Amino acid sequence: TIRTRFAPSPTGYLHIGGARTALYSWLHARRHGGRFVLRIEDTDRERSTPEAINAILEGMGWLGLDYDEGPFYQTDRFERYREHLQRLLDTGQAYYCYCTKERLERLREEQQARKEKPRYDGRCRDLDGPPSEEAADEPVVRFRSPLEGHVVIDDAIRGKVQFANAELDDLVIARADGTPTYNFTVVVDDLEMGITDVIRGDDHLNNTPRQVHLYKALGAELPRFAHVPMILGEDGKRLSKRHGSVSVLQYRDEGYLPEALLNYLARLGWSHGDQEVFTLEELIQLFDINAVNHSASTFNPSKLLWLNQQHIMAAEPNHIARHLAPFLTERGVDPGQGGPQLEAVVRAQQERAKTLVEMADNSLFFYRRPAGYEEKAARKNLKPDAEEVLEHCRHCFAGLPEWEQGRIHQVVTEAAEAFEVKMGKVAQPLRVAVSGGAVSPPIDVTLALLGREETLARIEAAVA
Ligand code: GLU
Repeated sequence: TIRTRFAPSPTGYLHIGGARTALYSWLHARRHGGRFVLRIEDTDRERSTPEAINAILEGMGWLGLDYDEGPFYQTDRFERYREHLQRLLDTGQAYYCYCTKERLERLREEQQARKEKPRYDGRCRDLDGPPSEEAADEPVVRFRSPLEGHVVIDDAIRGKVQFANAELDDLVIARADGTPTYNFTVVVDDLEMGITDVIRGDDHLNNTPRQVHLYKALGAELPRFAHVPMILGEDGKRLSKRHGSVSVLQYRDEGYLPEALLNYLARLGWSHGDQEVFTLEELIQLFDINAVNHSASTFNPSKLLWLNQQHIMAAEPNHIARHLAPFLTERGVDPGQGGPQLEAVVRAQQERAKTLVEMADNSLFFYRRPAGYEEKAARKNLKPDAEEVLEHCRHCFAGLPEWEQGRIHQVVTEAAEAFEVKMGKVAQPLRVAVSGGAVSPPIDVTLALLGREETLARIEAAVA
């Protein structure tokens, strides 16, 4: 079975790029009935924070990227790394290096002066113990990398990529304090966790040949690799905060649906014909890691906004209601305590909101009386000339045998006829009276939802 993983370093929030990598790994596992593992790479204790771990877990949870195993933490696994490190030392595939910082610094400067690529010169490679001069007290451990030949990686996205071994120097796999380094822990974990498909950002492509050698030294079979190209802002520079929101949770707070963000991220670098809107089920069925673009993608916020609107329109009202409720609570309204059923409000608003924030703002009036009237809307639509129309409607509404959309509609059209004005001259004053502003769903729908008692009271307040 296919096993994939997402292996974030918890040094910040879960950003758009990380979320897309996680999504691709998740989709690849789901598509093939495989398993998806979450691994937190927290060995950099200086930069890893509990807040970042929480933000990653919360982001994954909100997106619905559920993992079958984990979260595993690298800081819980030092014993495992030590064991594998010892094996490499025992078999001579790794060695102690006693070179001091000063020596390595000098070496680097000399190489730079000769316009050579800085690399370790292998002084300690064949020593039996510390060298007689310039020896550090505590050695690091270096991996004995092959000096000749090539590594070819058959990447699912990039195709064949070749690296000359002469370019790779002897990598430090354990620091002087004994802690293992990134390339080593990743390989130990990926092989112990049985990862078959390593899907990650292509900023790691240069690490892959080193990791391939480590796999071989540990006697393990190689996984398949897929390096996902990066995401650029619209100015062609690597996507960052300068381009606006890049944190997944920020999109949640701005009123995006998780499925809309997932849809957008899936399409950012992968396509299926001209199709733009995908359900999650469709993505699971259709996503193909081999068909991911090998060039960088450009993040387009307006496209994401458009997709969000598409998903809001298409979703089940109860699903939207669940995501909308927290936004109303945040604005001081509890839709569970009186007022129309939230699902019914959603149904009335679905066609007219690009985000849940917008929907929440425009739905507050269903649950609380407007504190005042928007100035321009009131000037145009309320007293003095609309007073008579409003009074007339209030009277007719009070006498309706049944509070129902069709009958409400009839009152409005008949009032327009009686006063010889257009429908809008009746509907708009009513709208301002009940909502405080000039936008709402159709007036009959709005009033039907609001209820008779509330409608009458608000009209009364408006003409008072
Ligand atoms: N921890 C690494 C990162 O966050 C990813 C390592 C990997 O996917 O191999 O960039």
